[in-house]
Amino acid sequence: MTNYVYVNGEYFPKDEAKISVFDHGYLYGDGIFEGIRAYNNRVFKFEEHIDRLYMSAKVLMLEIGLTKDEMKNKVLETLRKNGLREAYVRLIVSRGLGDLGLDPRKCKKPTIVIITDKISLYPPELYETGLSIVTLATRKNIPEALNPKVKSLNYLNNILGKIEANLAGAAEGVMLNQEGYVAECTADNIFVVYKRMGNIYVSTPPAHVGALEGITRNTILEIAPKLGYVPERKIFTRHALYNADEVFLTGTAAEIAPIIAIDGRVIGDGKPGPVTKQLLTAFRELTMTEGTKIMPD
Ligand code: PMP
Repeated sequence: MTNYVYVNGEYFPKDEAKISVFDHGYLYGDGIFEGIRAYNNRVFKFEEHIDRLYMSAKVLMLEIGLTKDEMKNKVLETLRKNGLREAYVRLIVSRGLGDLGLDPRKCKKPTIVIITDKISLYPPELYETGLSIVTLATRKNIPEALNPKVKSLNYLNNILGKIEANLAGAAEGVMLNQEGYVAECTADNIFVVYKRMGNIYVSTPPAHVGALEGITRNTILEIAPKLGYVPERKIFTRHALYNADEVFLTGTAAEIAPIIAIDGRVIGDGKPGPVTKQLLTAFRELTMTEGTKIMPD
């Protein structure tokens, strides 16, 4: 079946969906995006993703030209057109066509692209055996220069980090902020699980340290207390990572990925931990029942 891509109000078969080389998204990375997932005929945390897109747009003074509801309907329409009930959705809004200068005022209309595709799942072994990761030398962008809370098309900070992780043979890499505090990974948020005074904490850095306010991250912070754990947003260094009982990553594509070693230090007993597994099960249950319906069941 042909996969159609939405480009500025029209649908094109995947191979024919194109944008201009004069689009400032291409020339300068001037634009924003979202990665959204649909499970079991439902778009998961749809409102949250659309809200984050519009918050990113506000910071960049990017006038999308559609209301949030109109944007949601375009996404649902694209999913229906492609007959997808399980999907990965990539929603992109770039500054649009301009001249060769930087000035965004020259770009009169943003380019809106919606790609809905089959989700390529991570290998199941990843969740069984866990990942070994490393700390990267590339630091997170400082919020005063380019705030990591903005999900912009300018992902070079993360890509430089990913190149370093690749060179180290690691699946992911931890990025610290300018002060050396743990911020997040190149494409996922990070959590530590630890015990203190009879409580089990599920803890992640606050977004202001220099992390994306991840939607999977926020879902885990919501689920944790329902399972008897204490959710926490806390600033920490690598010391806390190395000494945690469990560490895991969160993201729309990866869901909840267990970490078993960081910089050669084995985490816990070197296997995905029970809290991580329980959170993953609870998360997957939620994805099956919650969300905005795509088509009648
Ligand atoms: N941090 C970064 C840098 C990301 O790009 C992403 C999304 N892939 C995440 C965290 C996870 O965010 P979410 O749970 O909203 O997908």
